[in-house]
Amino acid sequence: GSVFAHLVQAPEDPILGVTVAYNKDPSPVKLNLGVGAYRTEEGKPLVLNVVRKAEQQLINDRTRIKEYLPIVGLVEFNKLSAKLILGADSPAIRENRITTVECLSGTGSLRVGGEFLAKHYHQKTIYITQPTWGNHPKIFTLAGLTVKTYRYYDPATRGLNFKGLLEDLGAAPAGSIVLLHACAHNPTGVDPTIQQWEQIRQLMRSKGLMPFFDSAYQGFASGSLDTDAKPIRMFVADGGECLVAQSYAKNMGLYGERVGALSIVCKSADVAGRVESQLKLVIRPMYSSPPIHGASIVAVILRDKNLFNEWTLELKAMADRIISMRKQLFEALRTRGTPGDWSHIIKQIGMFTFTGLNPAQVSFMTKEYHIYMTSDGRISMAGLSSKTVPHLADAIHAVVT
Ligand code: PMP
Repeated sequence: GSVFAHLVQAPEDPILGVTVAYNKDPSPVKLNLGVGAYRTEEGKPLVLNVVRKAEQQLINDRTRIKEYLPIVGLVEFNKLSAKLILGADSPAIRENRITTVECLSGTGSLRVGGEFLAKHYHQKTIYITQPTWGNHPKIFTLAGLTVKTYRYYDPATRGLNFKGLLEDLGAAPAGSIVLLHACAHNPTGVDPTIQQWEQIRQLMRSKGLMPFFDSAYQGFASGSLDTDAKPIRMFVADGGECLVAQSYAKNMGLYGERVGALSIVCKSADVAGRVESQLKLVIRPMYSSPPIHGASIVAVILRDKNLFNEWTLELKAMADRIISMRKQLFEALRTRGTPGDWSHIIKQIGMFTFTGLNPAQVSFMTKEYHIYMTSDGRISMAGLSSKTVPHLADAIHAVVT
C-alpha cells in the first residue's frame, strides 16, 4: 500500500473551488463571478497592450540573459515600485530609509513580510479585518504570527463599521500589527473615507500599532494610481514605520507572472539596510530568488514616460468598465422592482460587490441560474458584462422575492 494511503481528500480552496465547479457546468448561460480576475466586455481575459509592447521590447533586446536575479530581485523594479506606491516625492525614498524586495506577487509579499515580522518584531499578533480575503489568515498563521480580527463591515448598512473598527484597534495590545487593505477592500468593496483614514492613522500611531498595507488593487478602485495610494502615503508622511505588499496582478493584468514587491519603510537608512539584510535571510531558503520576466515587464513600463501614460489609460479603462457594471446592475434591479436597498452596489468600490446574499441564496442562484460566486455573496464585477447583467439581475430578483 502507499505510504500516503491515509490521506483524506482536502477540500477545494473556497475561492478557486468556485471556478472548478463552474468548469464542470455544461450550461450555456453559466456565469463565473467567483474569481477576482478582470474580463473584457466579451468575457475574455485581457493582456494589456502596454504589456505586449514591453514584452516585444524584451524579446528584441538580444543582450538580455536568463541569469539568476539577486535574492532581492530586480533592483530597478524595486526602486520603481517604491516610487509608484509612495509617490516620486516621498520623504522615505528621498532619505533612502526604505527597503524594497521583489516577491511572488501580493501573496508572496505578504508571506515574506509576515515571516520577517514573526522573526524580528516584538509583537507577534496581526489584526486582520472581519471579513477579509480568505488567504490572509492562512498566510500569516503559516508565517508564524497569531491572527486576530478587528470589526470592519456592518451587514446592516453594508458599509464600514467605523465605530467597531476604532474600538477594536483601540483595544489591541500596543505594538500589534494591523493589516490594512490600501484600497478596494476584498471582499466587501467598502473603504474608509480619507477623514476616517486620518483617524485610523492617529489612533494607530498613538498606540504604536504597526501598519502592514496590502495593496493588491492600486489604480483599480478609483482609476487613479495616486488616489488609491493615498492612505499609504498618509502613514508614510508622518515619518513612522510601515510595511507595504504590492501586487501587479490586477493593475497590470500580470496574474500568472507572479510579480509584486514588499517595501519596509524605516526611520533611517541605516536601519533599512539591516532590515534588507534580514529579508534576504527570509527569502533565500524559501525560493532563493524571484522570477525575472514579470518584473522586467513592469520595469520597462514604469521607466518609460510614454508607456507609463499608456498604462494609466488602460488601467482607467478597466476601472471604468467595472464602475459601469455597478451602475448597470443597480439599474437592472431597479427596473425589476427588486425589493430591498441595492445602493451598496454603486457605493462599494473595486473589483467586488458584497451583495449581502446569504449562502442559501448563493446556492439557489448556482443551482437554478448557473451563476457562480463565493458562498459569502461576493461577486466579481469584472466578470460581468452588459450581456450578462440581465441574467444576474433576474437571479437576484428571483432569490429575494
Ligand atoms: N490581497 C488581496 C486583498 C487580494 O484580493 C489578492 C488577490 N486576490 C492578493 C492580496 C494577492 O494576489 P496575488 O498574489 O495574485 O498578487
